[in-house]
Amino acid sequence: MQNAAVERPHAERSASQLPMLLMCPGYRPKKSADRVHWVTAQGTRGHEALDTGNSDSLESGFEERMVAQCEAYAHQFVELGSTVVNEFRVETTEGRWGYCDRLIVNSDGTAHLLDWKFVRAKEVADAEVNLQGKDYVVGILTDPRFLAIDRLHVHFVMPRFGNVTRTSKPFSREDVPSLRLEILAILSRARKTDSKRFRGASLTPHADVCKYCGAAGNCVALRRVADAVGRKYDPEGYGTKPQIPQETHASFVKDPQARAQLQELAGLMEAWAASVRHHNLTAALESADNVPAGYVIDWAQGKRRVTSAEGLLLCANEYGLQAQDLIDAASLSWTKVEQTIRDRAPRGEKANLVTSFNQRLTELGAIERPEPTPKLVRARPAIA
Ligand code: SF4
Repeated sequence: MQNAAVERPHAERSASQLPMLLMCPGYRPKKSADRVHWVTAQGTRGHEALDTGNSDSLESGFEERMVAQCEAYAHQFVELGSTVVNEFRVETTEGRWGYCDRLIVNSDGTAHLLDWKFVRAKEVADAEVNLQGKDYVVGILTDPRFLAIDRLHVHFVMPRFGNVTRTSKPFSREDVPSLRLEILAILSRARKTDSKRFRGASLTPHADVCKYCGAAGNCVALRRVADAVGRKYDPEGYGTKPQIPQETHASFVKDPQARAQLQELAGLMEAWAASVRHHNLTAALESADNVPAGYVIDWAQGKRRVTSAEGLLLCANEYGLQAQDLIDAASLSWTKVEQTIRDRAPRGEKANLVTSFNQRLTELGAIERPEPTPKLVRARPAIA
């Protein structure tokens, strides 16, 4: 079964994004990467175990210890007659919603909201000021399901470090209007950046935010920073246009300076050509009106992918081919092979295992490196 934490849809500008939006209203989360980071995967398994009480999906003693720590911490707030709710959706503010990890409601009107943080760095803001916690507090204290709650404590539990941050005094219903206003202020400023006419004047680059921002590639504020750095780094060369020599046919060019200009242009043309093809095809797929004049869309067959090495070998043998014939015909990505070894190796042994894998291949005579191939690269200036 897939974890609900993976499947569940998230509100636009979720509670966990609020701290980033406070730092810069233009922050956008990055699109999920194809490869799930191992810390994220541990967090997903940990959440699943805490949500379901089933630890089968945990992959190491360390993960089991992290989950046990969370349970032990939560247990101290459970009293006779407590209601415990795991992994539930709550409507927060401004038509948004979020998913709370655990709520313990005691019969005296006191409640404890617990959020599990399996993060690697100490990235969790103090519970007193934590905007994610405040967003959930608003949601819970305005939810008809939780009318019995008078006082709500918030706890962020970080089992990776054996750490917890919790509010020193509980939130009450009187706190809701000011909490709501705080969140509204952040969201209103952020929503202004959705407008097509927005020019980026109020964007505020911040090293800890921009590196996680999905808008960084097109961000005007970040470009201004990059421009300033570029000008300082290379005051003469930065921003100068590439030169086009008079003779552009490489076989006729003799002058090293003109050759260098062509070499620069060749790099630019590669990127430009790829960009033209990408944007023309994207536009053509959106509408037949965008197909470049004189062209049609050709749907090339997808590349075949081997799904069973045994099946391939069996079939190849039946047709008189050997494993070596297949290897000769295939192109093996050594980077991917090494990455697979790295992914499967225990922590702390990844690099060693890749090195020993390559040494073993060499010992067995299984690989050889061809002579180095020449290629022109820009000479780096000597360090003064
Ligand atoms: S990259 Fe731009 S939009 Fe994103 S956080 Fe940085 S300054 Fe804001």
